[in-house]
Amino acid sequence: MSSKIGILDVRSREVLDSRGNPTLETDVTVEAPDGRVLTRSAMVPSGASTGSREATELRDGDSSRYLGKGVRQAISHLQNEILPRIKGMDAASQSDLDEAMIDLDGTALKSRLGANAILGVSLASARAAALARGTSLHQHIADLYGGAQGTMLPLPMMNIVNGGAHADNSVDIQEFMILPVSATSLAEAVRMGSEVFQHLKRILLERKLSTGLGDEGGFAPHLEGSREALDLIADATRAAGYALGKDIMLGLDCAASEFYSSGAYQLEGMRLDADAFCVWLAELVRDYPIASIEDGMAEDDWQGWGQLTRMIGDSIQLVGDDLFVTHAETLERGINERIANAILIKVNQIGTLTETLKTIRLAQTSGYGVVISHRSGETEDTFIADLAVATNAGQIKTGSLSRSDRTAKYNRLIRIEEALGEAATFHTSIGPARL
Ligand code: PGA
Ligand code: ZN
Repeated sequence: MSSKIGILDVRSREVLDSRGNPTLETDVTVEAPDGRVLTRSAMVPSGASTGSREATELRDGDSSRYLGKGVRQAISHLQNEILPRIKGMDAASQSDLDEAMIDLDGTALKSRLGANAILGVSLASARAAALARGTSLHQHIADLYGGAQGTMLPLPMMNIVNGGAHADNSVDIQEFMILPVSATSLAEAVRMGSEVFQHLKRILLERKLSTGLGDEGGFAPHLEGSREALDLIADATRAAGYALGKDIMLGLDCAASEFYSSGAYQLEGMRLDADAFCVWLAELVRDYPIASIEDGMAEDDWQGWGQLTRMIGDSIQLVGDDLFVTHAETLERGINERIANAILIKVNQIGTLTETLKTIRLAQTSGYGVVISHRSGETEDTFIADLAVATNAGQIKTGSLSRSDRTAKYNRLIRIEEALGEAATFHTSIGPARL
C-alpha cells in the first residue's frame, strides 16, 4: 500500500471575512493511503495596514462586484492552473507542493496567480494530510517542522484598544495589547485577558467613552493620545485585581509606516524625526511597563530601526512586521544589521506554509523572538493556533477577547492545551522561547 496522500481535487469559493469583504475558502480533497477520500478547507485572511513588500493579494478590481474586492480571478487560477499542476501530488510532501505552486506562479511576490490562491491550497493541504495521517494539525505541522517540537502554548498578546487603520477613532497607534505574564496556562491567560477586557468596558462606560469595537475586537474610543489609552488599560488591570508590570505587561503595535511620510513620524499632533520619535517611544517605555513594541519605526526607515534597536532593544522586545513581511531574506538582512529582535509571522504575507516555516526557523536559530499573528481581516479559520503550538513559537497575537474571528483562535488553543494534557507547556516570557 502506498503511503502517498494523493491530491484529487481543489475547489474554492468566495466567502466573507470579518470585515464583510470576500476572501477565498479553499477545499483540498485527497485520497488517504487506506483509500478514504477526505476533504479539508482553509480560509485566507486579509490585512489593512499591509507592508508594501507583502505577497500579492489578488483582487478582481471589478467595481460592479464587492466594490472591486472580489477574488474570482484567484479562484479561476486555482481551477485552471494550480489544480492541473498539483493533481496527483502528495499532500504530505508540503515543500514539494508549495514549491510547485511557487514555480508555476513565477513571480517574486506571487502576483500572477495570487498569494491568496496559493495560500488556501497550502493550508488546506496540510489539514487534509493531517486528517489522512490520523493526527492533529499541530502535530502534523510539528512533524513537517522537524524535531521534538510542538507542545508549547504561546503567550497571547491581546489587543484590547484599537486605533490606526483598524478603527475610525482619533488614536494613531494601532494596537494596545495586554500580555498576561503571570498566567500558568493558556486557559488562565485567556481568563485574565477577558477579565481585564470586561473591566475596561465598565470603565469606558463610566467615563462616557465609546465601547464600540475596532476591527480586531478591541475598544476604539476617541482618546487624547497613547498615554490615555495606556492609563485606561492600567485602571482596568487594577480593577480586575491584577498588578500592572507583574501580572500584566503591555505591548504596542505602532504600525509606524502608516503615519510616516516625508521622513517624519506624524502622530498625535506632532511631527517628529526618527531621533525624536525614538525618544518619544523610550519615554513611553520608561513610564509604562511596555515589554514589546511592534513596527516602532516605518518599514523603509532602516536607519531609524537601527537607532531604536540600539536604544531600547536590550530591554524590550522589538517586533518587525511590515519591516520583515515574513520573508526569510529580509529577516536575514535584519539579523545581519542588528535590526529589531523579533519577527511577526503572518502566513499570507509570504503565501505558503513551507516558506512560513523557513522564516520561523531562521528567527529561532538566530535568537529572534517569534510572534505568530492573525490579520485585521480574519475568518473563523484557526490555523495559526496550531501553527504557534507546532513551532514552539512562544507568542501569538490574535486580537481582543471578543468577536468570534478572534476568540476562535483562543478557543482552539484552549482545546489544544487540554488535548496535550501533561505534555503541554506554557511560554510566559517575552522574547525568544528557550528551546
Ligand atoms: P493588518 O494589521 O492585518 O491590518 O496588517 C495587523 C498588524 O499590523 O499587525
Ligand atoms: Zn503590525
